[in-house]
This record gives sequence, C-alpha cells and structure tokens, in this order.
Amino acid sequence: MKKLEADVVVVAAGLSGLAAIAQAAENGLSVIGLEKSSNTGGAANMGMGPFAVGTKYQRMQAYDLTPGEAFRQHMNFVHWNADARLVRDYYFRSAETIEWLEGMGVEFFPPALTYPVPERMRAYASPFPTAHCVKPEGGGMPGPRCAATMTKRLTERAAELGAEILLNTAAKKILMENGRAVGVLAVDQDGAEIKVQAKAVVIATGGAGDNPDMIREHMGYEWGKDLFSFRIPGVQGDGIRMAWEAGAGHTPLTMELMYQCPDNMNVFSLDGAFRAPDLWVNLDGERFFEEATCINSTFTGNAIKRQPGGCGISVLDSALVKKYTKKGPAFVDHVHGFRCFDNFDADVEKAISEGYQYVFKADTLEELAEQAGIDKERFLATVEEYNDMCDEHTDSYFEKEGRYLTPIRKGPFYALKFYIGAYGTLGGIRINHRTEVLDNDGHVITGLYAIGTDSCSIFGDTYPFTLGGNTMGYCLNTGRIAADTIADTLLGE
Ligand SMILES: Cc1cc2nc3c(=O)[nH]c(=O)nc-3n(C[C@H](O)[C@H](O)[C@H](O)COP(=O)(O)OP(=O)(O)OC[C@H]3O[C@@H](n4cnc5c(N)ncnc54)[C@H](O)[C@@H]3O)c2cc1C
Repeated sequence: MKKLEADVVVVAAGLSGLAAIAQAAENGLSVIGLEKSSNTGGAANMGMGPFAVGTKYQRMQAYDLTPGEAFRQHMNFVHWNADARLVRDYYFRSAETIEWLEGMGVEFFPPALTYPVPERMRAYASPFPTAHCVKPEGGGMPGPRCAATMTKRLTERAAELGAEILLNTAAKKILMENGRAVGVLAVDQDGAEIKVQAKAVVIATGGAGDNPDMIREHMGYEWGKDLFSFRIPGVQGDGIRMAWEAGAGHTPLTMELMYQCPDNMNVFSLDGAFRAPDLWVNLDGERFFEEATCINSTFTGNAIKRQPGGCGISVLDSALVKKYTKKGPAFVDHVHGFRCFDNFDADVEKAISEGYQYVFKADTLEELAEQAGIDKERFLATVEEYNDMCDEHTDSYFEKEGRYLTPIRKGPFYALKFYIGAYGTLGGIRINHRTEVLDNDGHVITGLYAIGTDSCSIFGDTYPFTLGGNTMGYCLNTGRIAADTIADTLLGE
C-alpha cells in the first residue's frame, strides 16, 4: 500500500475542496487533495458564480447592502433556523474572498441589478446583486459554465503553492484513532490502496446528487419520477457516509428545490415557454398556486412538490400562444430568455413525434385532460370557473393580478408537465461555525472538518434566492474557514 503524509488531507477537489486546499497551502500547511474524478472543480464547473456582499463592485455601483443587513435578511428568510455564527462568518468574509480569488487571476463581471421586480416574481435574482459571475477565459458573456475558469485558477494556485491533488483517487474511509481523525484510506484508478496520514481531514465531496437511493431514503423523491435534478457523476454521498461512519452527527439531507420539465435541456424552449402565468393545474385538475409566482423557480418548486405525483401542469390555448409569439412571453427569466415562442408549434410537434411524454396538444380540453392524465371532470370545471374569473377580471380564489387573467378557450390547447429539480443535495454532516465536525451530542470530533454542500445546512427548507450565488459562496468561504481553523489549531493562533 502506498503511504503518504501531510498536515491536511482534503477529500475532493470540487469548489469547496479547492478553496480549502489553496488556503491551507497559503497558510503554510502541507496539503494533499484526493479527487475521485479526472478533473477538479466538481459541480462548480457548470455554474456562473458565487455570492458576496460588500464587494468593490457593489460599492462602485452604490449598492448599499452591508454584510450585516444581508446576514439579517438571510437569517429572517430561514426563520433563524441556521447556525447564525456560521452564516455571519461566511457573509462577513465573502467580499474578501472575491479579492482573494482576484489575486489569483479570477475576474468577475460587475454584478447587476437585473431583476428589479417584486420578491415572488424573482427567479434567483436578488433585490441586491450578490451573485458575482466569473468572466470566462477567452471572453464571452455571463452564462452557464463561466465558473469553470474560477476552479481552473484555484487548481493552478494550489499547484503553485505546492499542494498535491491526486486525480482519479476516491477516498473510501476516514482513519480514526482514539476518537480523532488521523488520515484517509483511498483507492486509485487501478484499485491500489493509498493511505494518507494527516493531522486534519477535510470532507468536501459535494453531497449526494448522483445517488438516487440516498435521495429516496432521506427525502422520499424518486429520481426520474417526481424529481429531475442535476446529477454530477460521482457525487454520491461518499463524504457524508464516511463522516457518519466516523461518528459525525447527522443534519437533514435536503435539496435547493427549483422546477423544470424532464430532460429540459433537450426541450429548452418549451421549458421556457410554459413558464407562463396563466392556468396551472395539478393531476386532480385543480389550481394549486397563484400562477404569476411561476417566475420564481424556488417558490414554484415548493408548490409543485406538494401536488399529486409531484407534478404541476401549465396549460396554454392558441390565443395565448399567438399573443406570446407576437409580443414575447409574459415573463423572461435569465435562463430561458426571450425567444422561446419563436418556433412553439414546431417545438411541440417535434417533441411529441420524438416520443417526449410530458408535452401535450389537443383540439379539445377533454382530449388534453385525457392525454395528460388529468382528472377530466374537475379540469373542465376548473377551466370554466377560471374563464369566468378572467371575464370578470378578478381572481376571487388566489387574487392573481388582472393582467395575468386571460381565458383558456381557443383550441388547439397545450400542456406541459413540470416536476421539481435541484443542483444536488445539501447538508448531512453536522459542523460548528469553525467547520469542525460535531457528533450527535455536539462534541467536536478532533481533526475532522466538513465544508461545501456536504455540511451546508444554512438554508432551512428553501434556498434564499433573494441572495443569489449562495451555494458557491458557502462552499468557497467554508473551505477557507476550515483552512484557517486548521492553521490556528496546528500552528497556533
Ligand atoms: C448546472 C449547475 C449550475 C450551478 N450554478 C451555480 C451558480 O451560478 N452559483 C452558485 O452559487 N451555485 C451554483 N451551482 C451549485 C454549485 O456549483 C455547487 O453548490 C458547488 O459546486 C458545490 O461545491 P462542493 O465543493 O460542495 O462540491 P462539488 O463542487 O460538486 O465537488 C465535489 C467533488 O467531490 C468529488 N468526490 C466525490 N466523492 C469523492 C470521493 N469519495 N473521493 C474523492 N473525491 C470525491 C467529486 O468528483 C467532485 O469533484 C450550480 C450547480 C449546477 C449543477
């Protein structure tokens, strides 16, 4: 068996792991990172950028949100059901983390106040611009995968400082001696065992988004049936399982819910077009929320989760399709953009002809209900009731604004089924504000730390979309906090 030794072993080189590795190396510690896949960066390579408050970009644009005010907003949003000291330390450090990243060559677009709309109408956007989108290497606009440039720079910085990251090396077990963590047992791509002896072990394996069994066991969702979340290959809850085996306390495994139609990347325009504030029903044929809220992916995800089959169905008629094709959709979110009605009918026909089972088109409402498996009698009654309210310009049930009340009368009719989605899982390992792992009685397990989504229990039951970029923000800052805690412990304050 190959044997290695370092001050710190960091299990995984995704976003939080990379932040811990680079910061620990800067703190003068010897570091070994163990990364299961052939690349560093994990899920962060798919994203846009992290949360921060109090940055120079915000100050330059006279956005006056302070870390303290953002902290209070966060804690109020989660009803103070989170470790206030951890949130506080993360928020107050976040601006300096942006500078730290800039120091290693990461560049950011100035965050912009792009969605000055009421809270329920926001997708992920903030009343204050907190998401700092990374400028992609070689130029380009803000968008998906921009953050890959940030993980690349972090990887380069770690190497420059002498940290070693072993790729294709999966950690299997935390080594414990007399109740303290003393290293990690790992396996390389050829199956050879590697023992890394260390004074501190940091867990950063990114949750269990690619582990349907764990998701079913802890949250009750059936992936592919009532859940269509991102699955980053290899993110299977390894670190959570290892930490629990080593005696770590449990926190609930949750998800930052949003919503999407199944296989949405292949029917992207439809996924955008049906995010319309008109008539939504559940499989029982009943309205279940105030439809204009559908622009808010987080709130809508929560509402859909509660419906029979975990399904919400957006219904359009030909008059609405004509209107949206001519004037553009009622809502434009930052992901789907403005053009999703350009080829609406062709997109619907193509999806149906390719066997896509979640979009429907019918000449009558009866046929639409039958095709989509909606309770027909109740659906017809709902449409009649809804149309009456539209005629009266008053939603006497949910009090939706009058401008979103257009009757559903002209065939052909269309429907799309939406389900919940998520970026991955959150939580699992209990920590304190210094990122030290705690057992179920709240005692520190010496030498063991958990960062990133494996330990992220600061969002309560709903992702704080009003303070965008929060998952990456948490990952980066807990990575750095862990590295500083370890340096304080090993080298003295
Ligand atoms: C499409 C998409 C877009 C996103 N956009 C944003 C955004 O714009 N802003 C934002 O704030 N958040 C965003 N997120 C969320 C954010 O990317 C994640 O929350 C973040 O990357 C999680 O960091 P992490 O370090 O916890 O895990 P990851 O970055 O996922 O890293 C986990 C790593 O652990 C490795 N690993 C797993 N098991 C083992 C093992 N046994 N041994 C060794 N290594 C192991 C994996 O290979 C992986 O590299 C997005 C997510 C997705 C999927």
